[in-house]
Amino acid sequence: MRALTIDARGVRLRDDVPAPTAVVGEVRVRVTHVGLCSTDLALARGYMDFRGVPGHEFVGVALECALAGRRVVGEINAACGHCAACVAGGDRHCAERTVLGILGRPGALAEVLSLPERNLREVPANVSDASAVFTEPLAAAFAIGESVALVPGERALVLGDGKLGLLCAHVLARAGLAVTLAGRHPERNGLTGLRVDHVGPLERAGRGYDLAVDASGDPDALPALLARVRPRGTIVLKTTSERPTTLDLAPLVVDEIRLVGSRCGRFEPALEALASGSLAVEPLIVARYPFARVEEAFDHAARPGTLKVVVELDS
Ligand SMILES: [Zn+2]
Ligand SMILES: [Zn+2]
Repeated sequence: MRALTIDARGVRLRDDVPAPTAVVGEVRVRVTHVGLCSTDLALARGYMDFRGVPGHEFVGVALECALAGRRVVGEINAACGHCAACVAGGDRHCAERTVLGILGRPGALAEVLSLPERNLREVPANVSDASAVFTEPLAAAFAIGESVALVPGERALVLGDGKLGLLCAHVLARAGLAVTLAGRHPERNGLTGLRVDHVGPLERAGRGYDLAVDASGDPDALPALLARVRPRGTIVLKTTSERPTTLDLAPLVVDEIRLVGSRCGRFEPALEALASGSLAVEPLIVARYPFARVEEAFDHAARPGTLKVVVELDS
């Protein structure tokens, strides 16, 4: 089948990649749309020494089992189901897990992918394919509320007005927090259908926030955010970076600041939000490419300041 692969030679569309075979408990999905995200670009640059088929933000049509013929999206962590973490309900932290297009499992930039049946969710009829590719990053934004109590009226600072930062700002504002967004693109304020206080660069953001969220992908963000939360405030890190961060931890101790890492989220709240029409995600799409031009799509997505690039496998 056709699939995009990453190897030592870089990113290549090939037509000789073996299609996934039937696996008990898994469902094969014919992929129709894939969103490219910063993780895919990092993998292409060599992050995690990735080799194989990337892509994890997808919508497609299930080919078998109860969901056959239905439009589906899929949670990307495939857990073993029986280790201590899985039994405790923390399957996203299963040590045996594979992660679609990221760790030990071929990804969505292929004609067909395979995921455990329990990972798949049917897409509500009123959610477009282009919107459905945002389920995974939107779920990651909602995941903030799994780790931190979102208290209406509290002041939140979101650093980064890229795709994830805009979604995080939206989710926090919907939860009733007073959101300040810092980044280089004030013109993006309101793209998701809800305006927040966009202050431009972080230097203009002020101090004393109850909650700060780093969605910048910048290893130097954390030291800068430490100075902006109040004593006993919370910082949530939403992005990984390829370069390590150097920082003075003394303020963390003196001000008793809570530092929380946050990765993937459950799909249900994201699908509900998309179906309710309470946020717009299609305005975040800046380009759509047919699968034949997926390499070009990668180059486009890698240009600094690019919002979402979507690859259409069915066009
Ligand atoms: Zn992603
Ligand atoms: Zn497990």
